Amino acid sequence: MKEIILIKNGELALKGLNRSNFEDVLIKNMRRHLKELGTFTFTKSQSTIMVEADDEGVDLEDAVDRLSRVFGIAALSRACTCEKDFECIKKTACEYLEEELEDAKTFKVEAKRSDKKFPMKSPEISRELGGYILSRFNHLKVDVHNPDIIVTVEVRDNYAFVRGNNIKGAGGMPTGTSGRAAILISGGIDSPVAAYMMAKRGIELCAVHFASPPYTSELAEMKVMELLKKVARYSGVIATFVVPFTKIQEAIRDNCPEEYFTIIMRRVMMMISERIANEQRCSALITGESVGQVASQTIYALGCTDCAVQIPVFRPCIGMDKEEIIAISRKIDTFETSIQPYEDCCTVFTPKHPNTKPELENVVHAQQQVDWSEMIAQALEQTKVVVIG
Ligand code: ATP
Ligand code: MG
Repeated sequence: MKEIILIKNGELALKGLNRSNFEDVLIKNMRRHLKELGTFTFTKSQSTIMVEADDEGVDLEDAVDRLSRVFGIAALSRACTCEKDFECIKKTACEYLEEELEDAKTFKVEAKRSDKKFPMKSPEISRELGGYILSRFNHLKVDVHNPDIIVTVEVRDNYAFVRGNNIKGAGGMPTGTSGRAAILISGGIDSPVAAYMMAKRGIELCAVHFASPPYTSELAEMKVMELLKKVARYSGVIATFVVPFTKIQEAIRDNCPEEYFTIIMRRVMMMISERIANEQRCSALITGESVGQVASQTIYALGCTDCAVQIPVFRPCIGMDKEEIIAISRKIDTFETSIQPYEDCCTVFTPKHPNTKPELENVVHAQQQVDWSEMIAQALEQTKVVVIG
């Protein structure tokens, strides 16, 4: 009995001629997610990819858990291979799925025969195997519409396999098939969710974090790294740029009108991130902003922020309310880390009465009190790079 993992591609199947390329990227990503567990062989076959451990004793449960976070997979399951012999198929189905069949009340069998030389046709396999399972598990009933377990049998050229229910995959598109973008990551709830959402669309991430020591602590920075590690469980490696932001924030505080502190700070963040994005071959910036959440996220303020850069800015959380964002952050396990109470540079020098309807002309004028090019160049020079994941 040899166990394998079966992968069902998601949207990949829609990609026509590009499909093979997409599958290759997906396999590369799967290999990377599994690398700590050993080496694996991947075999493409129609819309399924078969994953086989090269060595014995590999923890397949752990492998399935890791693969369940790889984007581009619609569904996955463990399966047991056996000889292409109906007696063997019957025995394997009942032994391999014993526990699930014991726990289920209803079942059905689905059979697929890609080896047309196999003497039984698919409906016959389903019927015969169904009858055999009923005779072995007296409590079970057949339900073809909504069964607790679907026993799937496939007869392929070299062997047959049997499996139970699928597990839902992470969905989306394989990371790296939609280009690169830079996520502006804070320690909050929203930006890790935004990063996850864009990675799910196939975007490879790098990250930019602004730190303002001593106003923000080492622990705040560690929290951000922890969050990125959690996102990287889905997205794969994230090159992270930590930009020293203290001098810039102090310059804003000392030279700009208070009502524009936050908006100017956000514009400078964008300008620096754009520079890093260009160097890193990123085609967009990503933020966790959502309309109306705070003063700097009114549509007027967001408009002023956008105008600071040429590069497109993606805000996947823009129309979501906090509850919806929190639901995703719980799902990807970033929530508990995000709510740890460390300060962010955005909460340093916050104005008492921020202008929620800033006009671009006034903001640009207010911003011109400082020569930014010199300060930005210095911040970039002192930026530190950490590779996460
Ligand atoms: P989050 O929960 O993601 O922190 P937020 O609702 O607290 O978001 P802000 O603090 O105003 O909102 O930040 C808005 C967005 O700006 C964040 O989602 C993030 O993309 C970016 N951002 C905020 N602080 C930083 C930082 N220190 N470094 C990099 N990006 C940041
Ligand atoms: Mg924040």
